[in-house]
Order: sequence, then C-alpha cells, then structure tokens
Amino acid sequence: MKNFLIIVLGGLVALVLVMVVRTGLIGGGSQTAVTRPSFTVYDGDAIAARLGAAIQLQTVSKSLEATPDAQAFGGIAQFLSEAYPAAHAVMEREVVGDYSLVYKWPGTNASAQKPIGFIAHLDVVPVETGTEDEWVQPPFSGAIHDGSVWGRGALDNKGQVIALMEAADHLAGEGFAPARDIYFLFGHDEELGGDKGAGAIVNHLKARGVNLAWTLDEGSGLAQGIVPGIEKPVALISTAEKGSVTLRFTARGQGGHSSTPAPDTAVSILARAVLAVTDNPYPLRLDGNVVAFLHALAGEMPFSRRLIMTNLWLTGPLVKNQLKGDALTAASLHTTTAPTIIRGGEKSNILPQQAVAIVNYRIHPRDTVEAVRDRAVKLINDDRVTVEIAGGREPSPRSSASGEGYLAIAETSKAIYGDIVLAPALTLQGTDSRHYADIADDNYRFTPFIYTPDDLQRIHGTDERVKIENLAGAAAWYEALMRRTAS
Ligand SMILES: [Zn+2]
Repeated sequence: MKNFLIIVLGGLVALVLVMVVRTGLIGGGSQTAVTRPSFTVYDGDAIAARLGAAIQLQTVSKSLEATPDAQAFGGIAQFLSEAYPAAHAVMEREVVGDYSLVYKWPGTNASAQKPIGFIAHLDVVPVETGTEDEWVQPPFSGAIHDGSVWGRGALDNKGQVIALMEAADHLAGEGFAPARDIYFLFGHDEELGGDKGAGAIVNHLKARGVNLAWTLDEGSGLAQGIVPGIEKPVALISTAEKGSVTLRFTARGQGGHSSTPAPDTAVSILARAVLAVTDNPYPLRLDGNVVAFLHALAGEMPFSRRLIMTNLWLTGPLVKNQLKGDALTAASLHTTTAPTIIRGGEKSNILPQQAVAIVNYRIHPRDTVEAVRDRAVKLINDDRVTVEIAGGREPSPRSSASGEGYLAIAETSKAIYGDIVLAPALTLQGTDSRHYADIADDNYRFTPFIYTPDDLQRIHGTDERVKIENLAGAAAWYEALMRRTAS
C-alpha cells in the first residue's frame, strides 16, 4: 500500500513538473510587441466624411429576386472615382456582373511575384422595417456623432472599402508603385451569397489566368473584451470559414380524424426527429488550430490559467466543458445544429399527413455537407422521415498560418497596433472569400478595426457605427501592408 502511494505521489510530482515546464515554454507575454515604426497618420475626420457620403448611397441587397438599385450602385462607383482621383489614375477599373468593381494596380515587376487581392463588398443588409426609429442616428444618414460614423454599412463593409481606397489614394499620391499586381475586388451581393458579384469576378479573373498568392477579406478583426480573460486586443486572423447546410425533415403520418389517432402522428414523429439531432450535438474538438489559438492566448493569461491552457493533453475535457458555455467559442469548435422552422397541421381535429422542420447547420472545416446529412439520417433512424438538403455550401479549405500573407498581416498588425495578441481563427459566417478559393493559394479574413462586444450586435442590427479612430487606423494598416508586401 505504502509503495503504491509513493508511486502515485511520484507520478503526480512528475506530472506537475511536465505541466510547469510546458507552461514555461509558452511563457508569459510571449507575444511582446515590436517597436512601433513611423507610419502615416491619416485625417480621421476627412475619412469619416467620405464614409458618411458612401453610406448615404443605399446599396441594399434585399433578396435574390429583387433587382439591385442601379442608381445607388452606379452612384457608389462614381463616388469612389471622384473621392480617390490619385488611386483611379494608377489603377485599371472594370465593372463586372453589372455592379461589382475590379481594380487592378499593375506591378512594376509583376512576373516576379503572384498578385494579391483585397476583397470587400459594396452592398449592405436592409434595415428591418419598423426599427428605423430605434437608431440614434438615421440608418442611411452617414451622420458623424460621438466620435463615430453612423449608418448601415459603417462596419459591414463600407468602412473597409473606404479605408482601402484611402490607403491606395495616399500611396498613389506619393508616387508609390507596387512591385506586384494588387487587386481590389468589391462585390455587390455578398449579403445574398455573392454568386453574381464575387462569383462573376472569379470567373472573370480565371478567364484571364489570374492566380493570386493570397486574398484578404472581412470575417474577423481585432477583438477587445471579446476573448474571455484577455484585456489586450487580440488580432484574430481567420484562416478558414465554416460551411452551411439547411436540411428539410419531412415526417409522414396517417391522416384522418383526431378522435382515432395512431400511436404516432406526423407531428410527434417530426418532434422526435428534431430532438434526435439536437440531443446529439456534434462533439466539441480541440484540433490543431484551436490548440494553436489557445496557446497564443495562454501567454497573456495568469499562471494558473496558463497552466491549464498549455497542458490540453491533460486538461482538454475541462477546457472543453468551460468553452461549451460560450456560444461564440463553442461554435468555433464544432458543427452547430439549429432548428429554425417547424410546420405541420392545419386544424385542431385533423391528423396532418405531413409535418416539416428546417434545420440549419454551420459546418466545421472537418465535416462536409453530405456527412451532415448522413449523420442526421442515422440519428433520426426512422423511415417515416425523409431528410433532404435544401441548399448548402462546403466549409472553405484552411489557409496557411505560416505563409507569406499570414505573416504580413500579423507583422503589420503589431506594427500599427502595438501591444496586441495574435491568434489564428475561424470565421463562423459566410464571406465572399469562399468564391476565391479556386484562384488563390490562401484566403485570409481580417479587418483591421478594433471590435468590442457591443459592435458585434450592431453588425446587421440597430445603430451600426464605426469609430473614426478605427477608420484612420485601418487606412494606415492597409498602407503599411501594401508597402510591406508589394515594395
Ligand atoms: Zn460583410
């Protein structure tokens, strides 16, 4: 017994030693910032005024069936050419898919390096009818108030379009000429899936044999107060985005009068099918990407938490249990399951012959559309229920977290924003980037704005606005990135 105790205790001491050594390897403040080099200080108020004007052009994506507002989309193209004359003097511009804009800034030594592409979108989501009066500033006013520019599109995604053009205009004005080709790729229907915009742009570039080293789009950014336990801004550089599939469950039962029901009706069969998938969610997994993410953050955590984060081989189950509680974090660790619509029956005393449920899944890069369907069929295990795919798209491939593009984004972020934490991340929603997977080696998603928890609700919601300092910071960031990667 005594010997056994000694062995157990000895084992424990060894275990603690291993954990401490591993923790030490990651270390505190492992991501100490580099000294901030000098960079252009942009006039935030001037940028804000130009963004305000762009917001007033109501480039709303209403639905796939609706015709885009030609005046608004034509207006924004016209506005950009007037507001950024220096950029327009050096870049070639084409209109693709009627309203999308493709700019090419030809490189002086273009054959030496593959081109890069900056993706953004010109369209915005509608303002929900009846909520217009809840806005502090009218949603299409582009008003400047309280240090921010207000209106639909301020964050998603006109702020990015404007910051990119500011940087290009400034660089062109100074006589900068990129060594490699730089593309600006502005789609006009991202909020509807991007088929007519980004999809058409990709076909257009493909036909010309354009192959990009990497692209940069929206889809993540600098998170402040969003990652639990970390106060510094965390630059979440997204290397992939989730896919999506909508499944339609149709349950069939015997019709007739409700006074003589079979043991099961279409409604109860369907209810059981829905529970079969929600009661068996996809397991959360700490794969290599999540481990890299947690290790990046661990350096900023107090020792006790760092001890846990750097020893996931042992503490994994504990960490997963903790992460489960936060919807945002949990969503990045597995394929999510969300029943969104349920329908069946028309009269209280008639047995419905069928009932239908719609379940939307957001697919983690390790799963596929087919696999999600197959798993649902297996879990439901009832041939009275049919499961059909009602639209879907595969998750994007993973881009390199050590390639040229990733490193340039990371280094530029440290240079402009100083003391920040860098971590690879996964985008949970769809972006135009996925269309570019075919013609680019890597696709990154990162907007150089500092986002706070409150910003996340404003995107697609009420009171969307962007801080003027974010606009000035982003313009400087894009300029620095272009200098770094195309000099
Ligand atoms: Zn967007």
